[in-house]
Amino acid sequence: MEKLSFNKITACLDMAGCPNRCKHCWLGVTPNVSLKKSDLEFVASIFRSYANNLEVTSWYREPDFRNDYKEFWKLEHWLSTEHMKHFELLSYWRIVRDSEYVKWIYSLGVRVCQLTIFGMEKMTDHYVGRKGAFEEILKSINILLENNIAPRLQIFINKDNVMELPLIEKLIAELDLDKRCKTIGQEFELFIHQGSCDGENEKLYNIRIMPEDVIKISPKLVEYTLKYFGKRDLFDVLGKTEEELFSELINDNSTMSFVSSSPIFYIDNTFNVYPNITHPASWWCLGNLKTDSVNAILDNYINSKTKAQSIINAMPIGQMIKKCGNSRSKRLFIKGDYITYIQNQFCEKQYGKDILFMDLL
Ligand code: SF4
Repeated sequence: MEKLSFNKITACLDMAGCPNRCKHCWLGVTPNVSLKKSDLEFVASIFRSYANNLEVTSWYREPDFRNDYKEFWKLEHWLSTEHMKHFELLSYWRIVRDSEYVKWIYSLGVRVCQLTIFGMEKMTDHYVGRKGAFEEILKSINILLENNIAPRLQIFINKDNVMELPLIEKLIAELDLDKRCKTIGQEFELFIHQGSCDGENEKLYNIRIMPEDVIKISPKLVEYTLKYFGKRDLFDVLGKTEEELFSELINDNSTMSFVSSSPIFYIDNTFNVYPNITHPASWWCLGNLKTDSVNAILDNYINSKTKAQSIINAMPIGQMIKKCGNSRSKRLFIKGDYITYIQNQFCEKQYGKDILFMDLL
């Protein structure tokens, strides 16, 4: 087989997992583990000769969840030819447990940290899947501001939490976030959206927001959201109803390819490799780094040989929608998220429900 070559490969290894079990998590909930330094070195060595540039990261679920996060940050740099700046996503689990963490983050140049809430205490703890999460988020907001980092709030809404938005608005006023962020030279940002419809979030399809729920969002929260996204209308952020998307796409004969010259690969804690497109379901799996050759894995990617890629490559989206869409649903979707949802639904019909995303309780 001819040796494949890419402009850049980004390989993200799930070396620790995540303290949370969010109901909107598109990455799915797999057990937390603690992989070794040599595992990341192994991943880097495998991909190194296949790309002009290589970036490796020791996480794709919760950043800095490992106690040795500083050592791993250095190791990532050492193993990568290109390494991005630290994301504005931090671990609030760590912020409240490790007083050095926020100072270290600041020293890396991070000035904004995005935190996700779903409502007040009971609702946020329910959605995060962990008691105490809401309290940790509130504590984190104060710790961040004391360390000159502005909190940015992301609010995921569904039918069962949209009624808590006025309480969030009140909380923001009580915390005086506009003024406190200004004091440190930053602008307070907040945005609302419903998230994608893959991974854990797919299970929330039935309670996805509809236009009748959007009118419950206050003008102040709409203003923050439009400003953040640079949009003029909230439906430019929240998308269209499934009914509208269904009629728009039903006669669409286009097929899709996800192949890029600079792919991002997610590698789970058993070394299965997935393209960074949607949740790591079995039909997206490119192979396993311990049992398959890297050339075969990259060949699967570039020639769209995974079960999902081969279907999506050959079958027009209109045909999948005919089989899996709901022409009478008022649920709101961004077009790209809706297409991904339909593609996964179609694969699920072909191959059966993926064990990773079953309700096992
Ligand atoms: S959404 Fe993020 S924080 Fe929540 S479970 Fe998934 S990886 Fe963890």
